Amino acid sequence: MPNEAASSFKIYDDSAANSDKRILNSGTTDPNKILPMKYKWARQHYKNGVANNWTPEEVNMQKDFETWKSPNGLSEDERRLIMWNMGFFSTAESLTANNIILIIYKYVANPECRQYLLRQAYEEAVHTDTFVYCCDTLGLNPDEVYSMYATIPSIRAKDEFVVGVTQSILDPNFTTEGKENVQKFVHDLISYYIIMEGIFFYAGFVMMLSFLRQNRMVGVGELFQYILRDETIHLAFGADLTNQIVEENPEIWTPELKQQITEEIKQAVELEIAYAKDCLPRGIMGLNVEGIAEYVRYIADRRLERIHLEKVYNAQNPFPWMSEMTDLRKEKNFFETRVTEYKSGGNLKWD
Ligand code: FE
Ligand code: MN
Repeated sequence: MPNEAASSFKIYDDSAANSDKRILNSGTTDPNKILPMKYKWARQHYKNGVANNWTPEEVNMQKDFETWKSPNGLSEDERRLIMWNMGFFSTAESLTANNIILIIYKYVANPECRQYLLRQAYEEAVHTDTFVYCCDTLGLNPDEVYSMYATIPSIRAKDEFVVGVTQSILDPNFTTEGKENVQKFVHDLISYYIIMEGIFFYAGFVMMLSFLRQNRMVGVGELFQYILRDETIHLAFGADLTNQIVEENPEIWTPELKQQITEEIKQAVELEIAYAKDCLPRGIMGLNVEGIAEYVRYIADRRLERIHLEKVYNAQNPFPWMSEMTDLRKEKNFFETRVTEYKSGGNLKWD
């Protein structure tokens, strides 16, 4: 016989009792009482993240090491491309993690959203660890990798672009009370989730996954593929969180804010194209800057639509193979006989 308590257990509650919960400024949210939940999307992203678990040590780097060390293993252009992406990602991952922990977590009290934020923070730690692992296994110079955000102008420009917007809300006296402050908070969400994770990572993903497609530097390629799969979920959570806050605070979604965000996404596209030009001054591996630029415009349109803004470029996807790379079923490891299955299957759509 199920007992009384068990039969009344429910994960979600759509009833009026739960309907006054809100993401921001909610006096009725108890951050320590996760049940019953209100936001099913937050729960689903959490479960998708857990089903996609991985660690960098699962990827064998022996062949990459041999290729990296061999004088004829890679061209000078290929080497620079790999180093620059290491330089950008290694610091971008911790910028993102800091934003989650120091800003977003503080103001989003809803427990199922916080559960996801904790999961994401762990994944960012895994991503940070991935670049530690790359430095270690390939023998990269950490001083070179970790100073590129300061020494390479097109990397620095991207980091400064997202860091600049968080200055006002890093103020310890910042609150999310009032229309302007909610707008600032949403602006931070869009800068990190939509621009940093949704646009600034993507030229790098195309470049690094091109090695994987050609069966070269396969370990590094697989590591970037796992990061891409995590980032797909981060982006989806960030967009759902943004859309939910806008739905609950419709007065903030003014024509001026929408215009500002659209303009910033256009600036971000230009910064990402400038970065691609720096990384890839000459075409290699079937990639050229025009192809990457078209791809960045294509994904920028998808990001705009995901947060209910008008697309601006009407670009076509020049790399349809990128959508296969995000499929969450983990293939057989190239160097090992062991096959690790991820449970969630292909339930995430490329957006
Ligand atoms: Fe990450
Ligand atoms: Mn992320």
